[in-house]
Amino acid sequence: MTITLKRGKEESLRRFHPWIFSGAIHHIEGQQEEGALARVLSADGDYLATGHWQIGSIAVRVLTFDDEPIDIAFWQRRLAAALEVRKAIGVADNPHNSTYRLVHGEGDHLPGLVIDVYGQTAVVQAHSVGMHCCRQQIAEALQRVMSPTVHHIYYKSETTLPFKADLGQENGFLVGGDADDVAVENGLKFHIDWLRGQKTGFFVDQRDNRSLLEAYSRGRDVLNMFCYTGGFSVYAMRGGARKVHSVDSSAKAVDLVNANIELNFPGDTRHQAFAEDAFRFLQQMDDGAYDLIILDPPAFAKHKDALRNALKGYTRLNLRAFEKIRPGGILFTFSCSQAVNKDQFRMAVFTAAAQSGRRVRILHQLHQPADHPINIYHPEGEYLKGLVLFVE
Ligand code: SAH
Repeated sequence: MTITLKRGKEESLRRFHPWIFSGAIHHIEGQQEEGALARVLSADGDYLATGHWQIGSIAVRVLTFDDEPIDIAFWQRRLAAALEVRKAIGVADNPHNSTYRLVHGEGDHLPGLVIDVYGQTAVVQAHSVGMHCCRQQIAEALQRVMSPTVHHIYYKSETTLPFKADLGQENGFLVGGDADDVAVENGLKFHIDWLRGQKTGFFVDQRDNRSLLEAYSRGRDVLNMFCYTGGFSVYAMRGGARKVHSVDSSAKAVDLVNANIELNFPGDTRHQAFAEDAFRFLQQMDDGAYDLIILDPPAFAKHKDALRNALKGYTRLNLRAFEKIRPGGILFTFSCSQAVNKDQFRMAVFTAAAQSGRRVRILHQLHQPADHPINIYHPEGEYLKGLVLFVE
């Protein structure tokens, strides 16, 4: 299909913004099938871009600004370029690390596609119908680019594709199967549950922040709130924490964190996990029980209209931690809501600090790691932010 834009609406594309909004479109020729490839032209008929057509306010997600075919060679070039960046960062081809994000959507010029690598398994997640339609070609290109490392490709898009598209999609292996579920992050081992786990099975985006936490853990009493697979807990153990308590409302998460601790520190009694609501746990725990607390909750705002409540949620949560943390304690606090920006999050934490009456200093300002790159023309790709605070 071919899309011609209204006059003047090509400006953002000339600046490489990878989305075309439906309001910018003058007219469309050819069959309008969700997920189809669209050639995008200016009002004067000049070629601008090729992308996936979709139904909604974002009408096209751009794959390329060059007039080139979207074929297996295209996918191979894009994936090879993504791998080069991961090698440059030092997360790929590293004997101490086999866990990383290979493709981060717009950040890798592949809007709607996420690929995480866990040892010999790659987990592919489509967020658009266009990427769903291309999954076999992507898997084929991925095999070529990641040979001989990756033997299994698992497709996990049941919950990420637009529900309305009604594709009847199922999760499953596109290549291989029956893979070993242990992957290595910075020398630590983790069971990855790509079949049932959240996202692609693991939160790869906290790798650098976990490393920083490790450096602060020696001799501390650590509380890892919203622990999920226990990433922060395992690093705190290696960092020499005196004790580590992991909390998650999901009993499955508690099983996962216990399994991951056992995998790295068998029989180590410094660790304990609790299946409990975070707010209740914080309310009931003794004052000063911990001097290193991690708050890494799920996204409180999935959309812009949920923003006000989300900010209140961050304030309420952080207030509890400020009220209870031991003097001289350190708080790692995060927000992964894309709708909440850095300044808004900082303001929510500031409000909590002020309400608690504690003296608080910012030691570090944290963000997503380099294998989750942000396309400079697409600032919407920035989502993870965190603060490390010293609480007197
Ligand atoms: N810190 C984790 C990722 C956290 S994901 C990591 O590094 O991998 C968010 C987790 O919060 C999920 O596991 C979810 O089960 C848990 N959760 C959601 N609401 C909760 C609540 N009210 N209390 C405790 N845990 C909660």
